[in-house]
Amino acid sequence: MALDPQTLLVVNVVNLLALAILLPVIMGRALSPAAHAARLSLIVHAGAWIAVILSEQWDTRWPNLVLSAISMACFSTSNWLLYQALGRWLGPRRFAPLLLALVIAMPIGYVLLFDSYAWRVGWSNALIALQIAILASATLNSSSALRGRWRHALFICCSTMATLTLARGILGAFFSELYPNFAAPHPINLLALVVANATLVLTNVSVLVAWREEAEQQLRDQAVIDPLTTILNRRGWNEQAERAFANARRYRQPLALLSLDLDHFKRVNDEHGHEKGDEALRLFGQLMREQQRSGDIVARIGGEEFCVLLPMAEAGAARAFDHRLRSALHARAAATLGFPLDYSAGLACLADESELGALLLRSDEALYAAKDAGRGRLIEHRSTAAAT
Ligand code: GH3
Ligand code: MG
Ligand code: MG
Repeated sequence: MALDPQTLLVVNVVNLLALAILLPVIMGRALSPAAHAARLSLIVHAGAWIAVILSEQWDTRWPNLVLSAISMACFSTSNWLLYQALGRWLGPRRFAPLLLALVIAMPIGYVLLFDSYAWRVGWSNALIALQIAILASATLNSSSALRGRWRHALFICCSTMATLTLARGILGAFFSELYPNFAAPHPINLLALVVANATLVLTNVSVLVAWREEAEQQLRDQAVIDPLTTILNRRGWNEQAERAFANARRYRQPLALLSLDLDHFKRVNDEHGHEKGDEALRLFGQLMREQQRSGDIVARIGGEEFCVLLPMAEAGAARAFDHRLRSALHARAAATLGFPLDYSAGLACLADESELGALLLRSDEALYAAKDAGRGRLIEHRSTAAAT
């Protein structure tokens, strides 16, 4: 079987261009920042290959140098964009500064080393191989909710391409006579070009699957997150609180529940407008998030009603949370909203309840008692079971 490098190169570019033109049409305009970066990466990648083909058409130094340098810059930028996409999908990636340094250094070094074929080919392929190896490593772990198997496909694509690119660099740097130009019919180069086609397809399938997983996750989030405050809604709180409640009972660990309700909130709306009311709710949600310990489950369970479940917490820890939240609210409400804001709170600690609902009933009872007693305070519900 005779494979012709020029044909492989052209097929690769045609595939890239078809994807670069079609993907924006298929994916539409409303893209997440991650999908946007991945799509841009593909378009820049197509540009890189076009510059490679064009540069092959010139023997004179300047057009060749400029076009090759553009292609090198495009390859590097395309890798950077894909890394950005991975960072947004999987959580911040560790090697971003190193990759950025490689992305900037690669075309600069290429231009400076242009007059030595061995150096420029060795340099550019080694640095691109390193960039792609960093991309491969970026797929290995996830600190976000996205952990789909598309990461494995992308890992295989990137590590294979990194290896072949490095091999091509070694060939060009140390065995230049076997690899005198980009279209040399050496088996390593042929393999690299064939694999480039296969990884192109697989990489794009991976990106599309990642994009779908992101969309599914966004739907799941929407079902459990309150859009105004971006903390959990009642449904999300119930799901997580039920688990924490079951654990606390199973391992006989303490558990505290706070029910909170903003005081005279109707008056806030009446006097300052609904917009300000929303701003006050957002501030309250933000302060709750700032004051929670890791593991605490905070939520907006109704209009101006909030809940906090504190695993491994006795009444003292729950009172401390209330104290921190109240102090922060007093300090920040006047400063950011322009009027004071306070809330009433009811506290119940797990005694012999077998259901979360029963505990919630007691914290709500304490909350009503706090309202009756004049608002702006915390009252603890003392269970008869706990007292005995
Ligand atoms: P109390 O101290 O007894 O709790 O008095 P209150 O006025 O806070 O209680 P009430 O239940 O009478 O009123 C709650 C108000 O919260 C009424 C409603 O307009 C307001 N509210 C509920 N959800 C929202 C919201 O999403 N945005 C705004 N701006 N206001 C809301
Ligand atoms: Mg209320
Ligand atoms: Mg209220």
